[in-house]
Amino acid sequence: LSSQAQAVVDEIESKEVDFLRLQFTDILGTVKNVAVPATQAEKAFTEGIYFDGSSIEGFVRIQESDMRLKPDPETFAILPWRDGRSARLICDVIDTSTGEPFEGDPRYVLKQAIDRAEEMGYQINAAPEPEFFLFEEDEEGRATTKTNDAGGYFDLAPKDLASDVRRDIIYGLESMGFEIEASHHEVAEGQHEINFTYDDALTTADNVGTFRTVVRAIAAQHDLHATFMPKPIPRINGSGMHTHLSLFTEDGENAFHDDDDEFNLSETAKQFTAGILQHAPAIAAVSNPTVNSYKRLVPGYEAPVYVAWSDRNRSALIRKPAARVPAASRIEARFPDPSCNPYLAFAALIHAGLEGIENELECEDPVRENIYEFDEAKREEYGITTLPSNLGEALDALEADETVQDALGEHIYEKFNQAKRQEYDEYRIDVSQWELDQYLETF
Ligand code: GLU
Ligand code: MG
Ligand code: MG
Repeated sequence: LSSQAQAVVDEIESKEVDFLRLQFTDILGTVKNVAVPATQAEKAFTEGIYFDGSSIEGFVRIQESDMRLKPDPETFAILPWRDGRSARLICDVIDTSTGEPFEGDPRYVLKQAIDRAEEMGYQINAAPEPEFFLFEEDEEGRATTKTNDAGGYFDLAPKDLASDVRRDIIYGLESMGFEIEASHHEVAEGQHEINFTYDDALTTADNVGTFRTVVRAIAAQHDLHATFMPKPIPRINGSGMHTHLSLFTEDGENAFHDDDDEFNLSETAKQFTAGILQHAPAIAAVSNPTVNSYKRLVPGYEAPVYVAWSDRNRSALIRKPAARVPAASRIEARFPDPSCNPYLAFAALIHAGLEGIENELECEDPVRENIYEFDEAKREEYGITTLPSNLGEALDALEADETVQDALGEHIYEKFNQAKRQEYDEYRIDVSQWELDQYLETF
């Protein structure tokens, strides 16, 4: 056993953990897990745990279904429920026929993006801001869209009834090793945000999965349904997952910072930004992967629609947040939403950004006006294009973008495209309540 694995085995023993949940995600970003008795911990580290991959979304066909989970000892955490008797380990998925990492494992896809950055001399830091809604449950315990409060941005209790729930969520996250920076009521009724500290991109992607699980579980203890659906209620703000990114050099310098630049952004940061802007329509298929994602990306609700960057404006796709110290210079990609698979979304953003650096892409000047208010002529004058307006268009953009396809790898790209095309087609032929209200009696 490695010393890290041994430390985990010791901790399992001293803390009397009974069950281990071995976790990984499918291509849609859903956390999957298999529970083993804690007595299996040593074996899990040495031999791995075998499972049938054919029932996992986007994994493999029946005839090639044997997969092995290889737990990452750095991800050990005791779950804040079940009396501290259950712990989880996030795993890499190994293809048993080759003994190599399974190319359908989203975590592996992100690791490859990180490797590419490392080859270029960079470490990537990422911090997401996942927003979510808390809804009441009906008598049968099913989710409604009735918000649990009528609070607004930064409101305090008693208007913000959720502060107790948020506090319990924060305790839960902290017990699993999260460092919480802030939490607040978001703009919409029933909408919340809890910010946790940045970390390397892989840890952060792991954290997003954990975050979603903890938020849902603790909300449920309060008889509330937490949802990361991007736009549960029309005509009010939706939920984004703004993603802050920065590159650090091997000697710990922030490669995105430049004291002499007007925006304190280095040429590297601007090239990275230009890379993301160039591939944004295709990245959107991954970072905004549901039919509902595109109901959020409309003008007027602090979510981006137009492909541009800004040093202040929240209507832009990428924003340069104010930074107190050089180490904090970073860019904020505002288009991702919390229905994405964080591993795949980060991988797509990183590859596009790194390509921007490699190709020394030129970054346009930031747009400082409110782009929501631009008409088409003005957008044309500024050379501003728009994000896809629905999932179908985003998938078309992905189909035309080899950089983002390569970021996902052939296996995941194909499975993802297939699953999402089907999802979009099902939606396209469905008849919505809006249509019935609009037409049933008119015609
Ligand atoms: N909820 C907004 C969104 O959809 C973001 C609000 C904010 O700036 O935090 O992206
Ligand atoms: Mg927010
Ligand atoms: Mg933000």
